[in-house]
Amino acid sequence: MMNALLLLVLAQTGSAQVKNVVVIVSDGVRASEIFSGADRALMGKGGGVENEAGCVEKFWRDDLQARRETLMPFLWKKIAREGQLFGDASRGSPMQVTNRARVSYPGYNELFTGVADPKLTSNAWVDNPNVSVFEWLSTKGYSFQAFATWATFSRIFNVDRSKLEVHAGWEPPFEGDALRTPGKDLIDTLYRSTTPVFGGNALDALTFAALKESLVTTRPRVVFLGLGETDEWMHAGRYDLALEALQRADATIADLWATMQAMPEYRDSTVFLITTDHGRGGLPWDWKHHGASVIGAEDIWLAALGPGIPALGVRSGTGLVTQAQVASTIAQVLGESWTQTAPRAAPPLPLWPTILSRSAREAPPRR
Ligand SMILES: [Zn+2]
Repeated sequence: MMNALLLLVLAQTGSAQVKNVVVIVSDGVRASEIFSGADRALMGKGGGVENEAGCVEKFWRDDLQARRETLMPFLWKKIAREGQLFGDASRGSPMQVTNRARVSYPGYNELFTGVADPKLTSNAWVDNPNVSVFEWLSTKGYSFQAFATWATFSRIFNVDRSKLEVHAGWEPPFEGDALRTPGKDLIDTLYRSTTPVFGGNALDALTFAALKESLVTTRPRVVFLGLGETDEWMHAGRYDLALEALQRADATIADLWATMQAMPEYRDSTVFLITTDHGRGGLPWDWKHHGASVIGAEDIWLAALGPGIPALGVRSGTGLVTQAQVASTIAQVLGESWTQTAPRAAPPLPLWPTILSRSAREAPPRR
C-alpha cells in the first residue's frame, strides 16, 4: 500500500532525486533484435554475411534469454532487472511511431516534440519549425549538450533558433573550444583524419568518445547521444556489422552509465532513456529498409533506467504506447510538464503504473 501511494506521488511529480536525464537513440533498431536477439535467418547470404559460422558462433544462442543477453548484455542484465522495457508486442506492450513516414527526421521530431508533424515526411535538410522538449528545458535553465553521428541533427534541433549546443556529423566537435585538453586535441584529429564511410554520419565510436571527453569539463543536466551505425549497416545490407554495431551501442550505454555513476553530479540522480527513431522491415527481403510502405517500420521500443523508475522489467499489458509519448516522459522524469506547454504533445509513458499488478509486485527489488 505504501508503495502504491509512493508511486502515485511519483507519477505526478517524477522523482525528487532525478536531476539529470540522458536520452540515447540508436538509429533504426528493430524491436525484434531487442527482444529476440540476433535473427538466424539473416546470418547468411541473405544478410550479407560472408562468415556465417563466425557470426553464428558470436551471436546465435538457441535459448532466447541467452541470445538477447549475448547481443545486449547491459540491456538484459542491468536494465531489464532494474529498469523497464517497452515494445514487446508479444506481451501486450507494443510501441509504435505515429508519423506515417517511418524515417529518421520525422521520427526524431516526434520523439522530441511529442507530436507527429505531417509536413515532415523525409530527411530533407530543413530547419525544424517545431520546438523540442530540449529547447524548452534549456529556456528553463537546464544545460544541454547533444553529440550525434548524423549531421542533420543541427537542423532537427534548429540550432540557429534554439541555440542548443549540438555536435553533429563529421564536424570536429571541439574546434574553436578555448578550453583544450589532450583528449579534445586527439578526438578533433580523429574526426579530421577518419574516412567518412557513411557520408553525413560520423562513426559511433568517435561520437561517443567526444561525449565522454566533454563530460570531463562540462556537466550538462540534459544529454542527447545519437548513434547511427545500427541504421547504416542495415541499409548497407551487412547484418553481421549491424549486430556488431548494436552490441557496441549496448557497451557504450554501459560505459556511459558507469562513467556518470562515478561522477558526483550524476550519481544516483540521472535517468537514462534509450530508444530508436523507427523500426524496419520484418521480412527476409526488407530488413534493410524502412519507410511509409514498409510493414514493421512502425514498431519501436524504449528502455528506462535510473532512480525512481520502478524495476518492472519488460513491461506487459500496457496496450499500445507511442513514440509521441517520449518528449513528455523526458520532462516528467525531471519533474517538469511538457504537456502544459505543448498541449498537443502525447502524455508520458506509464513508467509509474497507478495500480501495480501482481507480477509487478514480484519484480526484484531495486538496489
Ligand atoms: Zn533513422
